[in-house]
Amino acid sequence: MFRKILIANRGEIACRVAATARRMAIQTVAVYSDADAHAKHVQACDEAVHVGGSAPRDSYLQWQRIIEAARRTGAEAIHPGYGFLSENEAFAGACTDAGIVFIGPPASAIQAMGLKAQAKQLMEKAGVPLVPGYHGGDQNPALLQREADRIGYPVLIKASAGGGGKGMRAVENAADFAGALASCQREARNSFGDEAVLVEKYVTRPRHIEIQVFGDTQGNYVYLFERDCSVQRRHQKVLEEAPAPGMTPAMRQRMGEAAVAAARAVNYVGAGTVEFIVEQRGAEMNFFFMEMNTRLQVEHPVTEAITGLDLVEWQLRVAAGQPLPLRQDELRIQGHAIEARICAESPDNNFLPATGTLHVYRKPPATAFQRGTVRIDDGVREGDAISPYYDSMIAKLIVHGATREEALARLDTALAGTHIVGLSTNVQFLRHVVRSRSFAQADLDTALIQREAGVLFNQEPVGLELAAAAAVAKTLRDERALAGSDPFSRRDGWRSHGTGVRRLEFAFGARQAKAQLATGHDGSLVLTVEGRAEPLLFEAAGDDAIAVQYGEQRTRAVVYTLGETDHVFTPAGATQIEAIDLLAHAGDQAAEGGRLTAPMPGKVVSFAVKAGDKVSKGQPLAVLEAMKMEHTIAAPADGTVAELMYAPGDQVVEGAELLKITV
Ligand code: ADP
Ligand code: ADP
Ligand code: MG
Repeated sequence: MFRKILIANRGEIACRVAATARRMAIQTVAVYSDADAHAKHVQACDEAVHVGGSAPRDSYLQWQRIIEAARRTGAEAIHPGYGFLSENEAFAGACTDAGIVFIGPPASAIQAMGLKAQAKQLMEKAGVPLVPGYHGGDQNPALLQREADRIGYPVLIKASAGGGGKGMRAVENAADFAGALASCQREARNSFGDEAVLVEKYVTRPRHIEIQVFGDTQGNYVYLFERDCSVQRRHQKVLEEAPAPGMTPAMRQRMGEAAVAAARAVNYVGAGTVEFIVEQRGAEMNFFFMEMNTRLQVEHPVTEAITGLDLVEWQLRVAAGQPLPLRQDELRIQGHAIEARICAESPDNNFLPATGTLHVYRKPPATAFQRGTVRIDDGVREGDAISPYYDSMIAKLIVHGATREEALARLDTALAGTHIVGLSTNVQFLRHVVRSRSFAQADLDTALIQREAGVLFNQEPVGLELAAAAAVAKTLRDERALAGSDPFSRRDGWRSHGTGVRRLEFAFGARQAKAQLATGHDGSLVLTVEGRAEPLLFEAAGDDAIAVQYGEQRTRAVVYTLGETDHVFTPAGATQIEAIDLLAHAGDQAAEGGRLTAPMPGKVVSFAVKAGDKVSKGQPLAVLEAMKMEHTIAAPADGTVAELMYAPGDQVVEGAELLKITV
C-alpha cells in the first residue's frame, strides 16, 4: 500500500479522501489555490503545496505543477477526486509517465469514454442497450436534421464532449432543429472546445439510474448496485438514493451486468459509474446507456451506506495493485440511503448560485462513517466563505435507514437541523422536495421538480406571527443576558424589565408589519402583530432553542441575528424577519430599477443584442457564466441598447454594469 498520496482536489472530496487515507495510515498532501490557503481540506492533510491563483485554470488544473508537487513531497500516487483533472486522460498519462500512480482508470479508458458519441459507438459493439439516436462522426447539419427526423421528435442534441448538465438542447419539432443545433454547437465550442454533437431520442419523464462498477488490474469486475438520481434541476442531480425504488432483482442484475460489460469493453480499472436513462412503461423499465463517468462520483456515499463499504479504500487498494476486496456474490444491499446536495443558491430565483460567508453553519448530529445513519461530507467550517471560483456545493447530507420511509424521515429531520446563515441555500427547498407527494411516494422521474413546483418554490412555512414572536423572544433573551441575569434561571421564562409598551415594525418578505409588545405588572407579555393581540410565552428549550407560544401557536425556534435580520429555524421550516428601527427607517430603499449588472462575479458568455437594438421587457440580453452555471440577463423594461460594456469572454466582478439601456 502507498505510504503517501497527493490529493489533487479541494472541498469536500479532498476531505473525504483524506479521511480514508488517515484511517489507512497513509500520509496525505493537499494542494491549494490562493483562495483556499486556509481551507478545511488543507488542514485535513499532513502537508500542503500551494499551486497557484484562485481560478481553477491557475491552480487545480495546473497539472504539471501538481505532478511536480507530488514528486517533491514524495507522494507515490495522486487521487484526482471528481471534476477538475479526474477525467483528463492527458493528466492520467502524465502521472504514469512521471512514475506516479494515477488513482483512477487507465488513460485509454478515460479517453474511450470521454466523448459521448465515441463511447456510444463502443457500447453498441459491446451489446449495451443505447438510446435510439445518431452518434456518427459526420456533423453535416442537413444530415443531423435528417437523423433527427428519422429518430422522431422530441429529440435531445448533446455536446459529445459535454458534462455537468451543460451543452444539451431538447427539440420539440423539425422546425426548431436548425436553431437548437446552432446554439448547442456554440455552447459546446465555448465550454468544451469541441462542437461535435450527437442526437438522441428524448425520453419523456425518464429516470436516471446509474450503476457503480469497480474493476481491478487482474481483470475482475463487480457492480455495487444502483443509485437513482432522477431528482434533478438543470440536468444536475439534487437528491440521490439507493436502492432505486421499484427495482427488481432481475432488472438490477441485467443493468449491473450491462454496466460491467461496458467497463470490460474499455479495460476499466478502479471506480466508475455507468449512467442509464430509464424509460418507464407501467411496471416495465427499459434502460439505455447514457454515458460512463470515469471517476468517483459525488453521490458515492449512498452506495457506501447501503453496502457498508468504503469506496475510497477500494480505489486505493486497486490502485496499489490489490485485487477487489469482495466478489459479486459477497455484496449485499442493506437498508436505504439518500443523499441531499446542500448548495449555495436561490431555488426561488431559478437556482442562481450564491456566494458569501457561512456566518452560521450548524449541522445535525452525525454518526459513524460508512453506514452511519446521518453522515455529513463537507469541506467548509463556520466562518468560511463560498467563493465564486468553485462550484456551489456546501455539503452533502447522507442518511441511512432500514427502509426508504425511515431514511426519508431522517433526512427531513437532519435538514431541519442544518442551520446556515449568511448566504442563500437550498436547504428549505430540499425539505419541500423530500416532503412532496411525488418524492414521498417514490414517483420519481427527471420532471419531478417541475411537476411539484407549486409546493417547492416560494413557500413560507413559519408565518409572520410566529416569526415575529420568535424574533421578540430572542431579543428579550439577549437583553436579559446583557443585563447580567441568567436568562435560563426562571422556569416560567423571562420577563422584560418593568411595564410598558414597545413599538416595533417588522419586514417579512414583501410585507411591512406594525407590532407592539406590552409588558404587564406581573411580567406577562402581550404581542400585537398587525392589530391582533395574543399572549406571548417562551422559555429555554435546550441548546440555543427557545420554546415559543404565541396565542394558540407553538414552536421550538433557534434564532440567529445577523445585522438587522433574524433567521428563524423551526421544525416546520426556516424563515427570516427583519426588525426595523422605527426612527432610522424613512423609506430609503435603493432604486435598483434598470441597471443591468452582473448578479455575481463571472464570465460574459455572449450578448444576444448589440448597440442600437430595440428590446422589450423580459427579452434575453446577455448570458453570464458563474460557478459553472449560465445565467441569462433579461431586459427589465422596453428600451434601446445604448452600449455593451464588455465583450464575450471577459471576466466581470459582481455588480459590474454589463450593458446600458435607454428607456
Ligand atoms: P456526479 O454524478 O459525480 O455528481 P454530475 O453529473 O452531477 O456528477 O456533475 C458532473 C461534474 O460537474 C462533477 O465533476 C462536479 O464536479 C460538477 N458539478 C457537480 N455539481 C455541480 C453544480 N451544482 N454546479 C456545477 N458543477 C457541478
Ligand atoms: P452530463 O454529461 O451532462 O451528465 P448526461 O448525458 O449524463 O450528461 O445527461 C444528463 C441528464 O440529462 C440526465 O441525467 C437526464 O436527466 C437528462 N438526459 C440525458 N439524456 C436524455 C435523453 N435521451 N432523454 C431525456 N433526458 C435525458
Ligand atoms: Mg451524466
